[in-house]
Amino acid sequence: MLVFGDRVAAVGRGDPPPWPVPLAATWDFRPHAVLPGFHDAHNHLLAFGLKQREADLRGTRSLAELFDRIRRHDRGQPVVRANGYNQDDLAERRHPTRAELDRVVPDRPLVVAHTSGHMVVVNSRALERAGIGPATPDPEGGRIVRDAAGVPTGLLQENAQQLVEAALPRPTRAEMAAAIAEASRTYAGWGLVATQEAGVGWYGPDELAAWQEARATGGLVTRAVLMPDVRTLDWAAEDRPLLWQGLASGFGDLSLALGPVKIFADGSLIGRTAALEEPFEGAGPDARGMLVWPETELARMVARLHREGFQIAVHAIGDRAIRVVLDAYEAAQAAVPRPDPRHRVEHAGVLPDGLLERMRRLGVIPVGQQHFIGELGDSMRAAVGDRRIRWTYRQKSILRQGLVLAGSSDCFVVDGRPLLGIHDAVNQTTAAGRPYAPEEALTVEEALRAYTWGSAYVVRREREMGTLEPGKLADFVVLDRNPLAVDPAAIRNLRVLATFVGGRPVFRAD
Ligand SMILES: [Zn+2]
Repeated sequence: MLVFGDRVAAVGRGDPPPWPVPLAATWDFRPHAVLPGFHDAHNHLLAFGLKQREADLRGTRSLAELFDRIRRHDRGQPVVRANGYNQDDLAERRHPTRAELDRVVPDRPLVVAHTSGHMVVVNSRALERAGIGPATPDPEGGRIVRDAAGVPTGLLQENAQQLVEAALPRPTRAEMAAAIAEASRTYAGWGLVATQEAGVGWYGPDELAAWQEARATGGLVTRAVLMPDVRTLDWAAEDRPLLWQGLASGFGDLSLALGPVKIFADGSLIGRTAALEEPFEGAGPDARGMLVWPETELARMVARLHREGFQIAVHAIGDRAIRVVLDAYEAAQAAVPRPDPRHRVEHAGVLPDGLLERMRRLGVIPVGQQHFIGELGDSMRAAVGDRRIRWTYRQKSILRQGLVLAGSSDCFVVDGRPLLGIHDAVNQTTAAGRPYAPEEALTVEEALRAYTWGSAYVVRREREMGTLEPGKLADFVVLDRNPLAVDPAAIRNLRVLATFVGGRPVFRAD
């Protein structure tokens, strides 16, 4: 492979082709394997970077262990933060309570985030700081969970999380830029060359500035497409564009660009807040999750974003949420036909055949997360039961419908290593070692294509990246062994030896 500037100039066997300028550098990667670099179509790089500074609760097996990890992390910070627990993995099979957290950190706010990112449990100091009491009403699209006496338990779901976050100090621009740089270097070590940031604006008004600072100072070594959260747009006036002077999806360049607008339609499957048509497994008839926006409001936002030329990416996990989102997309496209708007459904967690066929008809792309199978598969089965599990996080069915399949992790929610997602798409095995949905298994080649070309496609970059051929970006990864030649059960053990972005090495293993 011959690279000129940041592009692939030629690929082939035998002698190097005649070239009018001397080669600046030659690399011999034999006997290893060179592939297009991995591209994560739904990721939270900034949150991942910031969460590296919090207590890590992933893999916690009991409440005692959870409290202990928080205590060991507590070094007198003004706000103590922890993240990554899953109540289904705890021996007690429930969330911690405010009273319990008060015993761990009595004197300062403590925020303990669920692995889904869709809920937190906080202590009394945090509730006080946010002014949340028994009389506080639930915010729109959120729930302050209360005990039988109406007293908040500390569990805040969906939009209720923002009540506490708004009352606590936000990271500064410099802290965010540093977190972006650290995360980007970590990602390069995982073989990633690009990520799509599924929600920008959660940490304050200068997130875009932090991304630009990280890029300008050389900290951002991977490419990024940023998806502004719909709540950060300027909805005040009907006759003024939603973003400054009509800025829309696609603005920017190949290292940093504005992507789709992100909207949340519902919650999380394992957190039991996703909007389902039928109740969660083993739960009462009303336990069908929640829609974050009333249907009419969602349709109104989608219609206007579509009219103003945005690509749209709506988080919809439950089948009820997906139906509502498809209704909104269909109406928007009928009112203002746009060629190939490539709107997306993020996660598309519970996707029965009818909805999948409707997506194909509308040209809407589901963007699912392969490694949810390995890390959350057992929890997801507990949430929806055996009958519906075969509709969840589908892979092969999406390809069979003729839709494009993208690869993504939703990291920080689960481990963001692309090889884990590729492994799970092929092997379909949960953490407990149970088969998940074997009929949805991909070939290794299909899984690699999803995590490279498929992800590029869902942000209109398939002509620039995703394969290694003349004219495309020289974004590639070197693996110790060829994933097409190893036992599929060993894919997750492959090692990333080097990662190149635009022809330059951004990661090299020892
Ligand atoms: Zn996400």
